[in-house]
Amino acid sequence: MKSYFKTMGEAEFEKCFPNEESCLEFLANKKWGEDWVCKKCGNTNYCKGKKPYSRRCTRCKSEESATSHTVFHNVRIPLKKAFKIAFMVCHDPEVSTYKISDNIHTRQMTCWKFKKRIMECMEGKKKLVPFLQIDGRTTGE
Ligand SMILES: [Zn+2]
Repeated sequence: MKSYFKTMGEAEFEKCFPNEESCLEFLANKKWGEDWVCKKCGNTNYCKGKKPYSRRCTRCKSEESATSHTVFHNVRIPLKKAFKIAFMVCHDPEVSTYKISDNIHTRQMTCWKFKKRIMECMEGKKKLVPFLQIDGRTTGE
């Protein structure tokens, strides 16, 4: 995801992720694709969950949202904004959180916190949060 964001220009980013749904769809595709396996029981059959793009196990009925087990889980800002932060940080890890704050009209402290989370993820410190997990790698390269 890091390299994916990196190769993307700002205009392209805005086009790809205009709203929450497009972000969720992206995460769902990246995370599961066609190969869904229930984390609880190992079942591979799912149906649609209650939330957009979440999946629900047909056997044990446990539901997994598109954001769970990613760095975007439980973010307090709209997903589109969280994606924008990730996008900006991927382009420039040194980007100031004031600049991010101006760009997405969100409090600087909020941006700082989420940036920190992303950085930890990119550095592989938090293995449980595969934000940028692509091809099974957790570092985001
Ligand atoms: Zn299950």
